Amino acid sequence: MKTIFNKEKYHYHSTHYGKLLQSFVYLLGEPLCLICQNKIDFDNFSSIEGICKSCFNEIKSFFESYKRCPICSAVLKGSLCDKFHHKNIENIFSLIPLNDQLYNLYLNAKYRKNKRLMNLFSDIFDFFLPQTIIDHYSNFIDYIVFVPISINKKLIRSYNPSKIFAKILAKKIKKPIVTVFSEKGFQYFHIQRKENINYFTQRFIFNSKLLSIKKIDITNKNILLVDDIYTTGKTASFLADLLILNKASKIYLCTFFNHR
Ligand SMILES: [Zn+2]
Ligand SMILES: [Zn+2]
Repeated sequence: MKTIFNKEKYHYHSTHYGKLLQSFVYLLGEPLCLICQNKIDFDNFSSIEGICKSCFNEIKSFFESYKRCPICSAVLKGSLCDKFHHKNIENIFSLIPLNDQLYNLYLNAKYRKNKRLMNLFSDIFDFFLPQTIIDHYSNFIDYIVFVPISINKKLIRSYNPSKIFAKILAKKIKKPIVTVFSEKGFQYFHIQRKENINYFTQRFIFNSKLLSIKKIDITNKNILLVDDIYTTGKTASFLADLLILNKASKIYLCTFFNHR
């Protein structure tokens, strides 16, 4: 169990709580829960650093309270799934089904460069990823590929959340991460933008050079695509199609959120 009573860590609070509140936290010597903002003390700390026991239990029961589609992880309203299933994606596992509170918090972490919050989400992923899924992937997966972000976004955000989740998976299932996609040049966008409404999704190409440099062949291999959020699945299915076109065998998708 990680300790949450580490004074070094309080510095992170300054990025989103403001200076005044930070000094207040310092005086108290106890961190605030990143979800409910209540104080975390000896009575209510949890197995995940930065969240209190009740928030932890809430997340835990939230995972257990829904019946979900075995193919796409969507929350089932009846006995059958009414969501679209992509033909080139074997199955989708998303850890967290639609939950606005956590989703908004995540968007904060993603778009406001909140490293402390981003760490919280990677800890949640690390902690709650079911053993059955890890075993399943360990048996079937050969390579892990994370959904890339554009160079522009990378400059702004300085990190790619999909890569963070992919790294956790790679450690758990003991399979390597490979880079297979690269971004099309700016000039291409300019032309495409006018003609193609999907230019945003289709900005990546399969780059076989990246694989041959590392002497990797994905022919007949099973690939686990990793992304942070699953909404329409447009990008993921486009990338899955590219992998199949380049002779990969089966494509699985793992995401943190299922937001649809
Ligand atoms: Zn809390
Ligand atoms: Zn489904």
